[in-house]
Amino acid sequence: MTSDTVNKIGTSPTLKISSKAKAMKAAGIDVIDLSVGEPDFATPENIKTAGIKAIEQNFTKYTENEGIPALKAAIVQRLKEDHGLTYVPSEVIVSSGAKSSLFHLIMALVNEGEEVIIPAPYWVTYPEAVNLVKGKPVIVPTKEENGFLLQPDELKAAVSPATKVLLLNNPSNPTGATYTKKQLEALAEVIRGEDMYVISDEIYAKLIYDDFEYASFASLGEEIKKKTIIVNGVSKSYSMTGWRIGYAAGPADIISGMGKIQSHTTSNPCSISQKASLEALAGPQHEVARMTAEFQRRRNYVFQRLQTVPGLSCFKPQGAFYVFPNVASFYGKESGGMRLRNSYGMAYYLLKEARVAIVPGDAFGDDNCIRLSYATSMANLEKGLDRIVQALRELKPAKKAKTFILGNTTTRVRKSGPVEPNLSLKMRDALAAEMDAHLGFANYFEWNANINGVVIQLRTNVAHLNDFWMDNWYPAQLEPDFKPHGILYAVDGIPGREPRAFYNPETHTGFLVNADNYGPVRSLALGMVLDISETMLGTHALRGMSAETGGEVLALVGPPGTKKTELFFELLKDKQFRLHSSELAFIRQSGSGAQADCPERKLFLPTNTVELLPGLAALFDHSKCENVIGHKENCQDAECQRLDDCRLDRGSAYCYKASKEAHGLLDPNWLAGPAGFARRGTLRWIFLLRLDSTSPAVVKLEPKEALRILSLGEAPGTNRSLTAKAQPFFNPHWLGAGRGEAAMANAGRLESQKAFFGRLLEVAKCYLFNSGVAGADKIKETVGK
Ligand code: PMP
Repeated sequence: MTSDTVNKIGTSPTLKISSKAKAMKAAGIDVIDLSVGEPDFATPENIKTAGIKAIEQNFTKYTENEGIPALKAAIVQRLKEDHGLTYVPSEVIVSSGAKSSLFHLIMALVNEGEEVIIPAPYWVTYPEAVNLVKGKPVIVPTKEENGFLLQPDELKAAVSPATKVLLLNNPSNPTGATYTKKQLEALAEVIRGEDMYVISDEIYAKLIYDDFEYASFASLGEEIKKKTIIVNGVSKSYSMTGWRIGYAAGPADIISGMGKIQSHTTSNPCSISQKASLEALAGPQHEVARMTAEFQRRRNYVFQRLQTVPGLSCFKPQGAFYVFPNVASFYGKESGGMRLRNSYGMAYYLLKEARVAIVPGDAFGDDNCIRLSYATSMANLEKGLDRIVQALRELKPAKKAKTFILGNTTTRVRKSGPVEPNLSLKMRDALAAEMDAHLGFANYFEWNANINGVVIQLRTNVAHLNDFWMDNWYPAQLEPDFKPHGILYAVDGIPGREPRAFYNPETHTGFLVNADNYGPVRSLALGMVLDISETMLGTHALRGMSAETGGEVLALVGPPGTKKTELFFELLKDKQFRLHSSELAFIRQSGSGAQADCPERKLFLPTNTVELLPGLAALFDHSKCENVIGHKENCQDAECQRLDDCRLDRGSAYCYKASKEAHGLLDPNWLAGPAGFARRGTLRWIFLLRLDSTSPAVVKLEPKEALRILSLGEAPGTNRSLTAKAQPFFNPHWLGAGRGEAAMANAGRLESQKAFFGRLLEVAKCYLFNSGVAGADKIKETVGK
């Protein structure tokens, strides 16, 4: 498992989309790549020659950690010439690309929890770099009508006592917005009064158009210079992206801190590249002017084309080589059955339909826009824009405006915690008092559920739990003096407690502490009902998936990893079979038969069941759901990630597959209508599932052997690596499974369970079924259907 820090970040979306475009090109598809973040020009000859010379002269060994003195001197000189700034070599460090400078700088400056103000739209790497050092990115959106420039009052409002840094990108990737000296001065006014630094990423400082007068943030006076660290490099200005040389200039103590970090990460940057960069920075500069003039010509062309597209607005950039048009007016439109919802959807549509690779604006913190790079030939730009304009023209208002918002609740806790099933009476009283005190009345929910004739009262302060509870069960009487059979406290927000569940059998009181997800509430409720009905009503339960046919019920019982769900839905495809229960049935012995009842109004189904039954997606769309993934960073589906095939990337607002912990409360009637659902039947067949490649498909079990397997909760040959730990009677809801003292206390209950199953196995046939070698047809054949 990767660390929490890594789990918090995603791969650079720009790199991902360009590699996708590269792969499409390699497969012979004519893709125009407007996603690239690098000049398309060759590195100038004199620079290349300097690199070659470095190799010939064997300048191929480690250099000074912070860069060769000649290059540092050239950087000092360039900062003087370009911005009138004075630095000494100890205030300069050379690294393997500006990205590396930036990362070392953030590591050197930012402590855990400290805030870094990042105006949005931002370069994709900024928030991730801050996340990687456990800092807190504070994203401040800028407005298109303000030219995507951070306003002084916006900056002021974002500053807090925890602020450490303002991260300014001037000119900006992705908008091309560039600050005038006056605008920078207004921001500096706010900075002067605060104890904070400015990282000024000036990597595009040379690519400025229309005689715009560029100013470096550090040039705003000595006080500001002391608070500013400039990040720059040779990648963009000298068309040297692959050479990987960047640098930083700022206060000596910070630069020396970066040097310490660099000594442990990359050591010195590439020796050959340093020599080439020395030539770039100290040699003739006319190539830069030539490239800039060409970029300006392209910017004018792209901007003029985009301006004529109805429904699209575009800010005119003064620098860098990107445009960031607003395409939000196309959201909600569709073409060829594909409906656009957001910038990811737009990127996917343009790649698929127009064969143009662009980057979704959401990656830069603005979902209304997309980023196009004009760092590609004029011919490519013409072709690319023709295609984009055409594809946008094909988008039509959606015929059926299917705008629904998924009823989804994201909970803090996702997994079920352990249950302590034998809470003492004394502890029960203390815990109940603590819960009551915490519940108060301002946010208190109470509802009686009738679960197979047993009334359980939920007492909770979590609205979501109350909502699912009321939807899941049949209601019971709700009168002030009505005494429920059991009480279930589900109380969240108690300081200092881990999510835990407890049960006191004497008073039938259950406690769920500090969990806000429904799964454990439902499970504890079923466990409580089992306990109450076993002792009071002689009713037991069989945990499995069951189907009814002609009044008779067939149950599939087995641990995870034995294809229970696959077999179940396969069986239901045959109209002879009706859905009975998706998880647990209560069994009452009557005369010569065993009557099996489904206790729930709804099916609490993992939403990833859509993989087996894609039709379920449309039903989940209007069910109540919990923990359905709407953000890619929460996705747990390694397979999708490996294939790089993500619904969310294609513009879908959510994904049912992405999490094992996502559930929907589905109305069983929606699956096949009322005729496809039976709540009651006589239990006739139990199939105990196992999965291997050698055992026979079906083995009829003698009642004694069946009872032994059931009470152990482990089918012979079960692959332990696939399955969870064995649960008596395969039933994780059963509260009788304690150890040590608890097991002794439960010995009586275990006997009563065994006696019940013993009787059941006299009236129901039990088979060992190997789902590794046979499918639903074999089950049908066995039961004579
Ligand atoms: N800053 C910004 C704003 C950039 O766009 C990029 C490159 N895309 C960099 C820094 C990193 O440049 P380098 O190649 O020097 O790592």
